[in-house]
Amino acid sequence: QEGQKAMVSQNRNVQFFKKPTYLLPVIHAQAATWLRDLGYDVLWDDGNSQEKNFDDWYQDLIAWEPDVVVLESTTPVMKFYWSLVDRIKSHIPKSIIVMTGYHSMRKPEETLLESSTDVVLKSNHIDFVLKKLIPYIDEHENWRSTCPIEGLTIRRDEKEFYDTGNFRQIESLDLSPDVDRSLVNWKNYAYENGNFLQTPGTYATSVIRDCMFGKCTFCRYNGPDLTFSMRSVNKSLDEYQRLIEENGAKEIFDDSGVWYRGAEARAFARGIIDRGLHKKGCYFGFNTRFGYLDEETVSLLSRANFRFILVGLEACDQETLDRLDKGYSVEDVENNLRLFSKYRLYPHLTIMVGYYWQTRQQLEKTISTVRQFMFSGLARTLQVTLCTPLDFTPYHQECIDKNALQTDNYNDFDMSCLIVNTPIPHDEYY
Ligand code: SF4
Repeated sequence: QEGQKAMVSQNRNVQFFKKPTYLLPVIHAQAATWLRDLGYDVLWDDGNSQEKNFDDWYQDLIAWEPDVVVLESTTPVMKFYWSLVDRIKSHIPKSIIVMTGYHSMRKPEETLLESSTDVVLKSNHIDFVLKKLIPYIDEHENWRSTCPIEGLTIRRDEKEFYDTGNFRQIESLDLSPDVDRSLVNWKNYAYENGNFLQTPGTYATSVIRDCMFGKCTFCRYNGPDLTFSMRSVNKSLDEYQRLIEENGAKEIFDDSGVWYRGAEARAFARGIIDRGLHKKGCYFGFNTRFGYLDEETVSLLSRANFRFILVGLEACDQETLDRLDKGYSVEDVENNLRLFSKYRLYPHLTIMVGYYWQTRQQLEKTISTVRQFMFSGLARTLQVTLCTPLDFTPYHQECIDKNALQTDNYNDFDMSCLIVNTPIPHDEYY
């Protein structure tokens, strides 16, 4: 879209922003840190966050002549990436292109057929796979035929691809390093982010990989190949302490799909208080689900200086919540919001509209309920997006199966307009 930038990097979703918003792709940042620690020369090259235009970014990349380029895919930028990959290959044919991300991991062969991409990485554990793959390529000339590392589809030649099976997470998440803030130029992400109440802000190395719920039909954290793993509370507390004391962070947000709950959440809050980090003028925030935090936990989080709590509301009619498999009721939402506001947390609601089944009555129920939450002070801020099927999630597949999709051109999946048939005329949404 003219004047908009695609933020492919939002850890589990894509959004197009007119106002600059730079979100650190945490798992890629861990992968870059890990490879650098292994002795590789790594360039973190996020053109958007460096505010480069495409031509400058491209010229710099080609001049650097990387042996390997790692890109992150999602549906609306696939066609752009396929032509970009072919262009990079025409300028630096020896460069090995690894495509990561949720779109290509669901359809690896498509990307190999549509472009000269060498490897599709089919897991969200990009750090764990790359830290094995890069040394393997380095040490084995015939890596395309012999690579035993799980979670890859590898090009052998123009038409022959070799699939190494699904990646299985058996190693502890704690093995992956904390993000090296200098390597990823953390200040480029520290100011332009509407979710920060104070700056400089930063994203913590996520404590949860994938989602412990993992059922919501529109979400990329849904699928048989996705696992669930957790970092230890103390490792994360150590990172928070460094971010505050060494980097001067004033806000730390953990962008895990759903942050700790129960015992871990309470242990984390107590750890912040015991280390005195709640008195350093730094706010903390995270994503959670309705129904996951009880009163004892919420009150501890508040004492520990947690403020910004992002919760996916999606809709306020029960049929939609059930069809999305959200696993809670509108009553749960209200009860949770009361708890958050009682303890001075700042709930931020994310709402979607334009489901292919959405009736006017359902839409109006969502609008009136959200209005009531906002005007009664139960929620502090909100964002609304057009529900766009992406990355072959169950909702995306459902739209295909029910012939609800109006286009199969990936460029149209950029969330700028509805691309599914809806009972309500589209122009009423805009
Ligand atoms: S709870 Fe959130 S992160 Fe988990 S599957 Fe649902 S939408 Fe995705």
